[in-house]
Amino acid sequence: MNRTYEKLQEYLDRNQALNTALILLDWDTATLAPKAATEQTARMVGILSEEQFNSIINDEVRELMHQLKEPNEWNQLTDVQKAVIKELEREYEQLEKIPVKEYKAYAELAAKSVTIWEDAKTNNDYKKFVPVLEQIIAYKKKFASYRKKKGQALYDVLLQDYERDFNMEKLDEFFEKIKTELVPFIKEVIHHSKDIDKSYNYLAYDPTKQKEFCEFLAGYIGFDFNKGVIAESAHPFTTNLHNKDVRITNHFYKNNLESAMFSVIHEGGHAIYEMNIGDDITQTLVGGGASMGVHESQSRFYENIVGRNKAFWEPIYAKLQRTYPDQLNDITLDHFMKGINLARLSLIRTEADELTYPLHILVRYEMEKMIFSQEVDVHQLNQIWNQKYKEYLGVTPPTDTAGILQDVHWAMGDFGYFSSYAVGSAIGAQLYEYMKKVMPFEEYLREGKMDQISGFLKAHIHQYGMRKTANELLKDTTGEEFNADYYINYLKEKYTELYLQ
Ligand code: ZN
Repeated sequence: MNRTYEKLQEYLDRNQALNTALILLDWDTATLAPKAATEQTARMVGILSEEQFNSIINDEVRELMHQLKEPNEWNQLTDVQKAVIKELEREYEQLEKIPVKEYKAYAELAAKSVTIWEDAKTNNDYKKFVPVLEQIIAYKKKFASYRKKKGQALYDVLLQDYERDFNMEKLDEFFEKIKTELVPFIKEVIHHSKDIDKSYNYLAYDPTKQKEFCEFLAGYIGFDFNKGVIAESAHPFTTNLHNKDVRITNHFYKNNLESAMFSVIHEGGHAIYEMNIGDDITQTLVGGGASMGVHESQSRFYENIVGRNKAFWEPIYAKLQRTYPDQLNDITLDHFMKGINLARLSLIRTEADELTYPLHILVRYEMEKMIFSQEVDVHQLNQIWNQKYKEYLGVTPPTDTAGILQDVHWAMGDFGYFSSYAVGSAIGAQLYEYMKKVMPFEEYLREGKMDQISGFLKAHIHQYGMRKTANELLKDTTGEEFNADYYINYLKEKYTELYLQ
């Protein structure tokens, strides 16, 4: 190995080690740690975050990066090493502008705020969450203003943390298309599906059996239990340390069959992505998913394009019926398909169907844009939220628990994340339309050949980690950069077939 790179590697390893500790604390807080531990754990998170910051933002690392960019050194490096240095430069440039004291204080705040949000949500007490949300927004604005390039909008800085190939200009165009193309279509679909009886979904389903079936589903789609574990948490999520340690969580509701099943398929999609990242890059700076948009493209691909596909259920629906004979024996597969794809104007994003889902994202996108482009009174945000739900989804949340408090993202400081879900859905649809041309997609599902699907995704998307951007992945795989028309057409075709024919 190049001697200069070897020296840099020591700093990178230290950074990875501290990152591992932080991820594990985060995982522990969300799964097993007692609630009372939060305050004290947050202090430790602050200290470790400061250490992690200092492990790469220092004069030695800067000097080593400069040296390695000299042609005689650069030419000795492998492609992976070059990619790591480019990513390091990018992160360095973003982080060095933030004073370490503020970075630490923010990490501490973020480690506590989720618990405060959880309490506020449980007690329908938005007021309790307001002070912490105000602080988070203030930090986010301050950090974005340190980091922004000349003329760049604050919200664009945040958006690019999650999806480098997107900004407000592109997203405005994308959401405009959703508004004009999908809103009238949704009305028509809902009108034609109002008689579907979905009451079977809300009968009593033994959580222990749910857990067993969800484990089966995870394994069935390709989640490797040698490299991953499933735990329980209030809200399902995925985290990972490297390609041989990927962790997902699930949550079981006694009176909802779908919730846990589609959560495990969604998080399983994230996990399969991380498990398939190449050994040559895992545990490096480029060893994660390409972006949150691409990550969500994989999870939502599994959840919707695969998981809500009739061909997927053909070989396994009987097993589901056998698991719950009293509840499902009279429900045919066709009925079940209409149930899991039922479009409804609803209040909760995570429970929303595939068709109306982007409208939930539209609400959040517009609110975030507003928060970061003007002065807002955080006390009023719940009201604005409710107005937007009324405007786009025709429903008014009866409580803040079912309104602004429903998602954890803002409590975690993840402003700019939400649009990744909609962009990810669109990327997934674009991949699907291409995959159908080059493989018998539905036939593979019908035969349970899930490895054919994951094999394709591994070869074209997963293995590269962050070495390609969303658009590079799409271009190299399908021959075309991001194009939202595939998504609109996919939804229209699918729902026309289900309800309008
Ligand atoms: Zn996800």
